[in-house]
Amino acid sequence: MTPDPHRYDLDALRARLLDERGGKVDDSIPTLAGADPGLCAIALVTPDGTARLSADADVAFSIQSAAKPFLFALALLDTEGEALDRVGIEPTGESFDAIKLESGTGRPPNPMVNAGALLTASLVRGSDTAARDARIAEGLAAFAGHDLAVDEDVAHNEHLLGDRNHALAHLMRAEGTMQVSADDAVAVYARACATLVDVETLAVMGATLACGGVNPRTGVRVIPARVARDVVSVMATCGVYDGSGRWMRAVGVPAKSSVSGAIVLAAPGRMGAAVVSPPLDAQGTSVRGRLASEALSDDLHLHSFAAG
Ligand code: GLN
Repeated sequence: MTPDPHRYDLDALRARLLDERGGKVDDSIPTLAGADPGLCAIALVTPDGTARLSADADVAFSIQSAAKPFLFALALLDTEGEALDRVGIEPTGESFDAIKLESGTGRPPNPMVNAGALLTASLVRGSDTAARDARIAEGLAAFAGHDLAVDEDVAHNEHLLGDRNHALAHLMRAEGTMQVSADDAVAVYARACATLVDVETLAVMGATLACGGVNPRTGVRVIPARVARDVVSVMATCGVYDGSGRWMRAVGVPAKSSVSGAIVLAAPGRMGAAVVSPPLDAQGTSVRGRLASEALSDDLHLHSFAAG
């Protein structure tokens, strides 16, 4: 019998995870460097829109790369699928900020690495930076079911200090694959990454993907089912960067990791989930987040490739 997620003891899982002390908090910008390494929260949201939450589920953090699936979704929506010609969908086996584009085409390799997200963020509707910022805010809010604040310090510092992102944007300009200015691309992407969420909100966003594009809380269709399927497929192959193969074997649930220690998971037809805990492994995945995801997958029978 399939276990009931609403009876799952997330606080017992959380207590076990707190014993794990491995990993290193990201120090690329002051706000992230100052994150509490002891933070650990887990949320599950099922297709009826109800949530199961651990302690700390209301602590806010910047979404960072967990925004990438949603930026890809908005780019697909706003370009009516043309985004699929502008960005690859192959895993790279390299780190999230590798300075590398697809050979031959000069496109970013996939929308889950920084190059790809810089591009997808530039493809959302809007004639200038402010209009694209507003469109992304509106789109992320639709996935979440409510408006989301932005951490202005994080947005500012990532724009200022994101040298590798500036390099990637310039490289795409040089290849002719990025249409907006490099500075515009980095500003819009940095602001999207600075969006504040908590695990309950992020789990609702994951659940919207898991429910074929309909937000289970608001009932609003945010994206067509086909777009949700495309996004979740690419999360499955590329969402955990150079750890995607290992993740798929051990967890078996499409997911996206991020430097704030957040992970968003989408188990189609079953649930959305989110975990946050800042200490990261070598691939930039939350150490406790990975362990939590493995436990959820095992205990709630979420692995995509398990026969029973
Ligand atoms: N904003 C971060 C960056 O661009 C996001 C990276 C991540 O979460 N892996 O470096």
